[in-house]
Amino acid sequence: MGGARQRRGAKLSRRLRPVALLGGTFDPVHVGHLRAALEIRDALGLGQVRLVPARVPPHRPQPRASAAQRLALLRLAVRGVPGLTVDERELRRDGPSYMVDTLTGLRAELGRRPLCLLVGDDAFRGLPGWHRWEALFDLTHLVVVQRPPLAGQEPTLPAPLRQALQGRWADDPQALSGTPAGLVWKQPVPPLDISATRIRGLLKAGASARFLVPDACLRYIRHHHLYTD
Ligand code: ATP
Repeated sequence: MGGARQRRGAKLSRRLRPVALLGGTFDPVHVGHLRAALEIRDALGLGQVRLVPARVPPHRPQPRASAAQRLALLRLAVRGVPGLTVDERELRRDGPSYMVDTLTGLRAELGRRPLCLLVGDDAFRGLPGWHRWEALFDLTHLVVVQRPPLAGQEPTLPAPLRQALQGRWADDPQALSGTPAGLVWKQPVPPLDISATRIRGLLKAGASARFLVPDACLRYIRHHHLYTD
């Protein structure tokens, strides 16, 4: 009896653990993305981190690999990693990949389950440039992924953002599990100085990108002659 209740309790808490989204171009996915996702999954006790490749990123140049190739690379990267999944909804949508649309769709599926959008420091400071950015707080929590040199320092935030954040800072990460959306939390993550730009540069130069990208992804990249021009 007690055992059954405990199992039900464990099942319930699993169901209610927050889902997080890490959006990006993933051109290609690399271990910087994967380590950050795992660090945050474990630090915040998340049920799941969904990697969300953008089809047409509104804020940057178009990706080098096709949507199908970036998706294939992501699927290879998360295979066998508990708690990491790929969410392909932006690839299925026409037009620019606005995060507010992505979150609206996800919110409709998740009901009141807590949702966390992971954003880097730079993206966070640039939030007021995002399409319908103020609506984001009704849909999701924001987790600002901080590199340690910045942790503890107060970055200069644009005035409209500072205003929108008033009363939203969570005192501890547990608070994110208690409500579906609307809070902000800064999570320090050990830095890995890896970027897709650098990996594309290495591959273009014929150099090795081993141990920066999972081996299965590198095999796919080689097989499809990606990033070599
Ligand atoms: P590019 O070099 O092409 O700009 P990128 O390596 O920055 O690409 P993105 O797909 O733009 O990769 O990143 C998706 C998300 O992952 C962003 O929120 C970004 O801040 C984060 N990210 C990228 N690289 C790292 C890293 N090394 N450590 C932690 N987070 C990272």
